[in-house]
Amino acid sequence: MKFKMKITQPGVYSFVLACGWSLVVALSLLVDMRGYKKEILAIATNVARAYIDKDMLFRDWNTMHGGVYVPVTPENPPNQDLPKSVPERDIKTPTGRVLTFINPAYMMRQVYELARKEKKISEHVTSLKPLRPENKPDTWDTRALIALEDGNQEVSEIVTEEGKRYLKLMRPLKVEKSCLLCHSQQGYKEGDIGGGITVTFPMELLEVSIWDEEQLLMSGHAFMWLLGLTGLYAGYRGLRQRTIERDKAEAELKQANAALENLATTDFLTGIYNRRKFEELLHTEVAEAKRLDIPLSLIFFDIDHFKKINDTLGHECGDTVLREIGLEVSKRLREIDIFARYGGEEFVILTYNDCRSARKLAEKIRTAIEHHSFAIGEKVTCSFGVTQFCHPDTIDEFVNRADFAMYEAKKSGRNLIVERS
Ligand code: GH3
Ligand code: MG
Ligand code: MG
Repeated sequence: MKFKMKITQPGVYSFVLACGWSLVVALSLLVDMRGYKKEILAIATNVARAYIDKDMLFRDWNTMHGGVYVPVTPENPPNQDLPKSVPERDIKTPTGRVLTFINPAYMMRQVYELARKEKKISEHVTSLKPLRPENKPDTWDTRALIALEDGNQEVSEIVTEEGKRYLKLMRPLKVEKSCLLCHSQQGYKEGDIGGGITVTFPMELLEVSIWDEEQLLMSGHAFMWLLGLTGLYAGYRGLRQRTIERDKAEAELKQANAALENLATTDFLTGIYNRRKFEELLHTEVAEAKRLDIPLSLIFFDIDHFKKINDTLGHECGDTVLREIGLEVSKRLREIDIFARYGGEEFVILTYNDCRSARKLAEKIRTAIEHHSFAIGEKVTCSFGVTQFCHPDTIDEFVNRADFAMYEAKKSGRNLIVERS
């Protein structure tokens, strides 16, 4: 049984292509989805950076004015963290309104608290050496602050808190002149990294649209995939049709070749090999017998007084006799014996036997023909010549010896077997 699968078969070929196409579409979908998520992360990172940039701008504005004064309210009590040494922390306007001094840090703290109440994008200032306990870093902040002190300009990461995803981004907060007002006693100098500003960006603000985008990408890819498969199917059908036609043409050609081969090698009247085929086989069989050193013999036989049958009963009856002899002899031969019509009413048998066995076979055939009831109602006999191939015979010598033996049988009275070695 053959298990060999031909890749050229349209079904297999199309299946492989369909699998490849599906893989390409799936990969493209994966890449697009990842690209979209990356894009979202880039947007979130840029928003977080913009927040910090704006904060720094506000801080700079406050610093530029050396701090600002705003009215004291319950939400805006005087800044208790300012050292006592700061003069004019609280002042009164000529109309009696009390204003308090807001330095950059206090201003930003108030802004951050406001943002936290709105529960959107939040920010906070933190430090490894905080003055206020509220600025104490959490675990992520601590890691980020250490990374900033190691020289990183920015630290960002996606973290999950209470099942929600956040982008956390921290940038360093450099010590400025205005900071030293409160922080000089900690040993800071201008330009030192005093801490960092962390922006916490809830990813859900952008990720709400992910599912919509994924659905869009999936339906687009599904459409593309189906379109590809439809094209492949159409191609498969065309290919299959052409393969069927090609196979049919090949089968017809094979049949025609076989018929032609049959015509070229078979005798049309008896259906046995013709002389051309016999000679071809004789060469290969002699070579094989020589190679294997096995006995090979030839039996030549010719119908006795065949001309008389033709002359008295007609050519048609002669043909019938030839056909009957072909059939009767074939019945008595083995599969490996080669039987051919050598010409006219002359036949030849090539048999893998020594001379004795070949003679026995000839005798069997001779008797069978002699006792066969031919359709013409007349007795028919044949004369036989038998010989065995002997080294260093040429093929011609081998054939001529058998032919000569047959003529000797004719001369000796016909319906006889003459053996020559
Ligand atoms: P012998 O015993 O000496 O062999 O005599 P013979 O008459 O058989 O031999 P001869 O060579 O004189 O005649 C052979 C005849 O066979 C002559 C030819 O017309 C006839 N013959 C050859 N081929 C065919 C054929 O295909 N069909 C028919 N009907 N006759 C054929
Ligand atoms: Mg004859
Ligand atoms: Mg003859």
